[in-house]
Amino acid sequence: MTLTDAQQALRDVAEAKAKNHLAPLAGAAPAGAINHRVLTALAAQGLLGRVFRQGDGFERVSAMDLCLLREGLARYCTEAETTLALQGLGAYPILLAGSDDVVQRWIPPVAAGEIAAGFALTEPDAGSDVAALSLAAEADGDGFRLTGEKSYISNAPHAGVYSVFARTGPGAGARGITAFAVPGDAEGFVRGVDPPGVAASDRQAALRRRVRALGLSFNLRLACCCLSSWPL
Ligand SMILES: Cc1cc2nc3c(=O)[nH]c(=O)nc-3n(C[C@H](O)[C@H](O)[C@H](O)COP(=O)(O)OP(=O)(O)OC[C@H]3O[C@@H](n4cnc5c(N)ncnc54)[C@H](O)[C@@H]3O)c2cc1C
Repeated sequence: MTLTDAQQALRDVAEAKAKNHLAPLAGAAPAGAINHRVLTALAAQGLLGRVFRQGDGFERVSAMDLCLLREGLARYCTEAETTLALQGLGAYPILLAGSDDVVQRWIPPVAAGEIAAGFALTEPDAGSDVAALSLAAEADGDGFRLTGEKSYISNAPHAGVYSVFARTGPGAGARGITAFAVPGDAEGFVRGVDPPGVAASDRQAALRRRVRALGLSFNLRLACCCLSSWPL
């Protein structure tokens, strides 16, 4: 495979920015915290803007360009690469399937690096077999109440918004799952660092929640993973 000139240039730009602007900021955050200096620098350097491209509205980056961005960043600053990947992973369900108002509420601050995003799919008893997830979503007034627990959620202690996958159809397997955009400060939403002893565990946390949230349509996880892959 041969890269086009534009693709090569994209990777080179990411590499140069990682070396000159991002690597000097790495390691500045305490364990368990998001490095907001790296996050805002990714935005200031225009790299988050490449992930959340803006034309008439927000547009998706191609999977190839995302790979090149990540490759370029990882050469000099793996923290920046991970931070960018997690922003995309956490926010792409919203971008791909959120209604206009949900997109407008969350994507601008995520794209500007003002808040971090989290992708909340895994549960203690639902890892590879995601169709077994059990966190329940029940209609409640004009919203939904989510009850259950997530685990291994990168950025979980400090993200401003989470794409949370929940079961709306008991017994419906993968067809009964819906994604919700959940604000990090939602009432009843408890975030704790867990479990100890996991590789890179300073970015992991468990989510225990009982919240109301805005709905998104589902069948998003595969699309997200294709674009962002697992970040760690
Ligand atoms: C550092 C880190 C960051 C993470 N970040 C996130 C995140 O941000 N959001 C999120 O939702 N999750 C996250 N996860 C969770 C991760 O996606 C899960 O660990 C993953 O889905 C696997 O689930 P599991 O650990 O329960 O393993 P299991 O599903 O129990 O699998 C254990 C092993 O069995 C194998 N296996 C499973 N099923 C089969 C099968 N049918 N046939 C053959 N082999 C099989 C697997 O390949 C694996 O090797 C993170 C995990 C880690 C370690």
